[in-house]
Amino acid sequence: MSAVSPAELLSTPVDGLHVLGALSPSRASDFMTCPLLYRFRSVDKLPEPPSPDAVRGTVVHKVLEQLFDLPARDRTPVTALDMLAPAWTELQEAEPELAEMLPEAERERWMTSCRTVLERYFTVEDPSRLEPAERELYVETLLESKLLLRGFVDRLDVASTGEVRVVDYKTGRAPRPGFEAKALFQMKFYALVMWRVRGEVPAMLQLLYLGSGEVLRYQPDEADLRATERKVVAIWHAIRAAEQSGDWRPSPSKLCSWCAHQELCPAFGGTPPPLPGPAAAD
Ligand code: SF4
Repeated sequence: MSAVSPAELLSTPVDGLHVLGALSPSRASDFMTCPLLYRFRSVDKLPEPPSPDAVRGTVVHKVLEQLFDLPARDRTPVTALDMLAPAWTELQEAEPELAEMLPEAERERWMTSCRTVLERYFTVEDPSRLEPAERELYVETLLESKLLLRGFVDRLDVASTGEVRVVDYKTGRAPRPGFEAKALFQMKFYALVMWRVRGEVPAMLQLLYLGSGEVLRYQPDEADLRATERKVVAIWHAIRAAEQSGDWRPSPSKLCSWCAHQELCPAFGGTPPPLPGPAAAD
């Protein structure tokens, strides 16, 4: 166990404010999925090989962000598809290791899957009728508990009447009915931050599933967001307790098949590395 916890190391002033720790929806979700996965990613900071699914998401997000730089009449499927190859090239220039992500024989199939996802976007909404207020917006807020919540919102739409819609693109398929809670947690997290920042509960949370062409919509209220705040703070306390005890237990589930750290996981016969010295988790 490290002598100084990552949470304590995050006790640094941010813009003159005292912060005890910081949490993003993805890190909170990691901990809820599996505390050991959180440890591998946020405490050990182990590298993970790029996954074709994740990189497809990054490329498609990039195109959808840039699409709104164009005049409304030019936001067509043909234009979006033309933007795909340059976006992929730009990403590889920034991260050259991505070029090795797939064997050459599979690259064209992967590009085709990117095109399919992008074309499907146009079946769920018409970008020529939208003028987003923000894209890839960094948001943060400091809760009374001194926990900093932060993350990136894919898109923020603000109606002429002032109502705010938080939009997130997912390149996978929509969850089955009854299994939406995990996806909505991320959106409620962002809604909580927006509420604290703007003083108004977003009117709509909207998830666009481009893997299946479905849209999940949710209208939050203050009670929802207060419950989300309690949940986020409880997750943070659980993380701190794990830091203090060194007990980062694995929580095997079907998501293990996507975990890059199975070889180090006791649930798969592995042994985690010794905990690192003082380091900040994110
Ligand atoms: S393999 Fe499964 S149980 Fe092990 S760290 Fe990864 S997600 Fe957790």
